[in-house]
Amino acid sequence: MPLVGVGLLYRHGYFRQTLSRDGWQQEHYPVLDPHELPLAPLEEPDGGPAQVALALPGGRELRARIWLAQVGRVPLLLLDSDVEENDLGERGVTDRLYGGGSEHRLLQEMLLGIGGVRAVRTYCRLTGHPEPEVFHTNEGHAGFLGLERIAELCAAGLDFDSALEAVRAGTVFTTHTPVPAGIDRFDRELVARHFGPGAELPRIDVDRILRLGMETYPGGEPNLFNMAVMGLRLAQRANGVSLLHGEVSREMFSGLWPGFDADEVPITSVTNGVHAPTWVAPEVFRLGARQIGVQRAEDALTVGGSERWDSVAEIPDEDIWELRRTLREQLVTEVRERLRASWRQRGAGTAELGWIDDVLDPDVLTIGFARRVPSYKRLTLMLRDRDRLMELLLHPERPVQIVVAGKAHPADDGGKRLVQELVRFADDPRVRHRIVFLPDYGMAMAQKLYPGCDIWLNNPLRPLEACGTSGMKAALNGCLNLSVLDGWWDEWFDPDFGWAIPTADGWGTDPDRRDAIEADALYDLLEQRVTPRFYERGQSGLPDRWIEMVRQTLSRLGPKVLAGRMVREYVERLYAPAAEAHRALDPDAARDLAEWKARVRGAWSGVSVDHVETSAATATAELGSTLGLRVRVRLGDLAPEDVEVQAVSGRVDSEDRITDAAAVPLKPVSGPDTEGRWVYEGPLALDRTGPFGYTVRVLPVHPLLASCAELGLVAVPSQELVEAAGLLMR
Ligand SMILES: *Cc1c(COP(=O)(O)O)cnc(C)c1O
Repeated sequence: MPLVGVGLLYRHGYFRQTLSRDGWQQEHYPVLDPHELPLAPLEEPDGGPAQVALALPGGRELRARIWLAQVGRVPLLLLDSDVEENDLGERGVTDRLYGGGSEHRLLQEMLLGIGGVRAVRTYCRLTGHPEPEVFHTNEGHAGFLGLERIAELCAAGLDFDSALEAVRAGTVFTTHTPVPAGIDRFDRELVARHFGPGAELPRIDVDRILRLGMETYPGGEPNLFNMAVMGLRLAQRANGVSLLHGEVSREMFSGLWPGFDADEVPITSVTNGVHAPTWVAPEVFRLGARQIGVQRAEDALTVGGSERWDSVAEIPDEDIWELRRTLREQLVTEVRERLRASWRQRGAGTAELGWIDDVLDPDVLTIGFARRVPSYKRLTLMLRDRDRLMELLLHPERPVQIVVAGKAHPADDGGKRLVQELVRFADDPRVRHRIVFLPDYGMAMAQKLYPGCDIWLNNPLRPLEACGTSGMKAALNGCLNLSVLDGWWDEWFDPDFGWAIPTADGWGTDPDRRDAIEADALYDLLEQRVTPRFYERGQSGLPDRWIEMVRQTLSRLGPKVLAGRMVREYVERLYAPAAEAHRALDPDAARDLAEWKARVRGAWSGVSVDHVETSAATATAELGSTLGLRVRVRLGDLAPEDVEVQAVSGRVDSEDRITDAAAVPLKPVSGPDTEGRWVYEGPLALDRTGPFGYTVRVLPVHPLLASCAELGLVAVPSQELVEAAGLLMR
């Protein structure tokens, strides 16, 4: 799959985390020198650095150089504004991830989106790499890339609306979080100032740009420019990152497709995956390679395919258990080193730190919990009942030990308080040998942490975890999951792979009560299910039921969580259809489609359902029989080829709404009459038991639409008509 990645080169990265003596998070921003990283500057033929430039208000300019990282076969372009040509302010645009104000963030996103497209064009020009056909934007952050491509097409002579159609066809938008803080919204005025004459994209009317980001739905803020909303409007295809998150996103953004039920909102889902060659510990890989050979083991990690993973079933219990102990022991060593370094940093002398030699035990059930610390992830849920936690940690026969890590956002004092609460608990001499907080969570720590744990714990507020990926990385090393049914775990949970923490996420539960219920459920599971299974011994003297869960996790869950599976899904379901749509939309087709949409939008108020009748009395309708449906619709200035008239039927719920609806197109049989009305007919099969209902609707159709909801237009019968025709039957 030919891909080019684009990102920003943050001079300070995110930040490094240490702790003060009393457990308060301290941030450090060491300077990264690109010359010491595996990066090469992209160069022009004359040897000068390749750069992109953006016009800023007031005649200023933002320039950035392009660094190239070769990630396997994929080139990754990183934009770096720290160049001499920039004024001091502009040099700082790519200084760090998060932390500047709103304008700083806007400039980062303009550089990423607009500068990103320019960097890709430069890269293609300099290397002969083919021009990309599809652009994929992760969340709204890179959303301006659509505007830059519209501007390119306008410069080539297309009008805005036609260019918008051509760009939409070749754009995929992925929404990554239902948490509002994760979605960038800018002041409208700020955006207006950065576009138009005297700033960026002077050819595009600023008003058109502003309208793309407007929250035109109930509850929307008229003065804010929403990057996710713009992203969705600039992309013909969109997805969330797990099955559940797809559902949540359809609900969340349904206001952009008025008239459609959430389940018809055109946002699908592709569940995330993780890069197994990075995350499978060498010891785990070696055991697999011993079974099936190095080449097939490598293929199993990248290509996937369950037949390659089946061989795990043949690995003897003793070998799996020995592997688990080896990994746990390595983690124990790693934890002691990191803890010692952290305590030194917190001001402790060597003589005070003898106790660290006894921190954690390579034979004790080890639980990992490491992630960012936004409030929805509930870092401190485990502290809810400290006595119960202490009993679990200090149990005489079946103790557990816990390794915790995570960075709070530098501006989030609430998050830092949670870190401090955990650190203070872990500092208590009564439990400090069984629970540790490791500062500066990052990939290097994560690579040791996931394999060394027996249980990976995740307790977010459902359904705010869009996917979650650390549990996948843990599973790839035979670590079992203990998690709230959120994100990917909601989709792939199986009692063979771990445990589901029951949630109280119904409406009306107050947050405090909810935490109490869910924390209790967590303690219960640990006491009654998890620890007994880990410590019980079967005939062979090994915990054979636990080992069987490890085996099931590796062989059946492993192949699902792979990045290879995810990429294949993106290609088949989103990239390839988008590439095809993009090719179909040459300038003439783009103009035709834009004109058609404008005509349909303009004429839609003239479309209505006028009359509905069935050929059989509803009272005699029986399961298995077929009704004849006859419908009269007004199409106004539109023609039958512009629309589809559908019979929609399904089960009816207690609120008279049709659930699990199936739509069948009806056929025009006559028309138009003198009043512009058309008659449509078709069969309606009564193929379901229980309360059943149907209705009729008219939708715009065009071969180049990706979904019948794309325009957000639909005409349905009036309430009077529904009642008169008895459209909902019981
Ligand atoms: C995988 C990973 C994450 C993300 O984990 P989630 O489960 O998605 O929260 C965060 N940080 C590091 C260092 C990781 O390796």
